[in-house]
Amino acid sequence: MPAMLSAPQVAPVAGLVEGLSNGERAVALYASDMPTSYSYKRDDDVQLGAWIAEGALRVGLPELHRSAAFLYSFQALELAGTATRDQQRAHKARFPSAARLRRASSLASLTVGMFRVSDAAIERSNRPQVEGACRCAGTGWFEVCFDPDEPTSVALESCAAHNPNGHMPTPVRVFA
Ligand SMILES: [Zn+2]
Repeated sequence: MPAMLSAPQVAPVAGLVEGLSNGERAVALYASDMPTSYSYKRDDDVQLGAWIAEGALRVGLPELHRSAAFLYSFQALELAGTATRDQQRAHKARFPSAARLRRASSLASLTVGMFRVSDAAIERSNRPQVEGACRCAGTGWFEVCFDPDEPTSVALESCAAHNPNGHMPTPVRVFA
């Protein structure tokens, strides 16, 4: 059916975009040809969707999922003020332009109103994945000393990336 060929390629793009979380859309936009100075105009939905699809195909879905998970966890650590230098270095290497990342992130949030987010994408968006050595070493907890004169007075703090809900640590010993 030759008539099909001239139809706008909106449907396949929408399908691809809907399969991506907010964070994955941000990473895709970051990797796309979207100009960093771009600002959204009414009816630019198809253009935004096309950039997301372009970036997603350029990066590849497995890497897109990974990068978005790294970004999500890093932002949680930064917000908590507990990101290590190693993590900051890894983030900077992955997203060298902070301005472009900000732009891509705010536009990605905008697309949630244009293209629904699939259940699988929502489920994926809560998975912590940390790039770079973590203060908690993956255990979900790390020790904080509040009194420099008393280094033995430590408290446990939950890791914003590995333990965002602050679940109690699994007891390893039972005290009588
Ligand atoms: Zn951690």
